[in-house]
Amino acid sequence: MKDLHAMIGKEKPLDQFHLSLRRVAGQIPGISAHGFCLVSCSDEREGVIRSGFDRDVATALMSDAIGSEDHVFSISNLGSRLEPGAFPLVDEHFMRKTARGSKLLIVEIASHVGRIRDGDTHGYGQVERFGRQSLCCGALTALLDAPVTAETVPHPWFEHLNAFFGPVRLAALREINDSTRMIAVAAVHATLQAESAVSEVFQHPSETPTDILLVGGVSVDQQGADGFLPVASYHLRADAGVAEIVSGYSLRTTPESLKIDVSGARIGVEGGATMEGRLKVQRRPSDAKAEPVAKAALTTLSDLVLDHKEELETRLEQARSHVESIRHDAATWRSFARPILRGLFRGLGDVQPELGVAAMLYGGGENLFASHKLRQIIDHGPSTSAWRRVLQEIEAELQQLNHEDAQRVLECLLSKIA
Ligand SMILES: [Zn+2]
Repeated sequence: MKDLHAMIGKEKPLDQFHLSLRRVAGQIPGISAHGFCLVSCSDEREGVIRSGFDRDVATALMSDAIGSEDHVFSISNLGSRLEPGAFPLVDEHFMRKTARGSKLLIVEIASHVGRIRDGDTHGYGQVERFGRQSLCCGALTALLDAPVTAETVPHPWFEHLNAFFGPVRLAALREINDSTRMIAVAAVHATLQAESAVSEVFQHPSETPTDILLVGGVSVDQQGADGFLPVASYHLRADAGVAEIVSGYSLRTTPESLKIDVSGARIGVEGGATMEGRLKVQRRPSDAKAEPVAKAALTTLSDLVLDHKEELETRLEQARSHVESIRHDAATWRSFARPILRGLFRGLGDVQPELGVAAMLYGGGENLFASHKLRQIIDHGPSTSAWRRVLQEIEAELQQLNHEDAQRVLECLLSKIA
């Protein structure tokens, strides 16, 4: 895994990356079966990564194939979005009737960016198609340019991407005024999506022994062989409904923290702690008005929390052990705080939406969502569907937290609920 972690932020030829991925997968001990999932953009240029992943990773590792072409659970859509709820399907599809050892799920999430070489200079965000230059990735470009058509007719993919990035990240990306902008948007997208996949694993841990090797990256499309810029790699393990982290490393998800180097033939991205100082701005101001509302909600919800105390405790204990296992390493703790928080929160919401909201309130996260919406729910009497809507809003907010705030909310949540 160290080999994969060391590749983060360094573009490689695509086939070389797949070879490394296959080698790392082959080194994970105790594996008796494999499963594969690829998330990529609908773009016809992504046929290269789809066939590469199938040929160089899936076919090469699959010894107990069902059929020669049934290897990869493939998600292709505009902007390569990991669709919420996909992971439990992947887990279920690749489960074997008889379990000896662990199954290994290899999940690759790839956003993409085009590159056009002109002598020694490289332009990013376009690719040559049929003798002319066109946008690549078109969906991510549309997201930054916000086309008028998206307002006339609903575009679910556009709304999904918009909510996924959030206004702060989008504003920061729009401020980048050279061609590294499209590298930044693709890198942030793949990093965030890898994190969402980690949250999905925590939300729906497999019931049978399962290792998950998860990589996120940017496919670099150009004339000639494509490149691949890895941005995140995780090794997780799950069994009997409990997931644990083995290791993980990723770039940061705030565009300002990424230092993108396009001076060479291949992209290099540094997302290191050296840029931390510039980012410490985002701590949210405390919202005094939210506190009485939160207290009222707590009274409404306290019985509910008591009813589900056992379930709540189990989930929190799992989160606590995740946190304890990674706290000694600052980089890992920073990378995992938000996915653990999101996984915990989603899991609580699965038990009952109100419980997720209550946990958030207890955890001191009352400033995370608009108080007037909570007020309305309390005034009109809570219904499960209303709580579910609040829960979805909070989940969207959690994704926008910076690492520092995610660590703070998680710590708060774990210390206050007992
Ligand atoms: Zn695309």
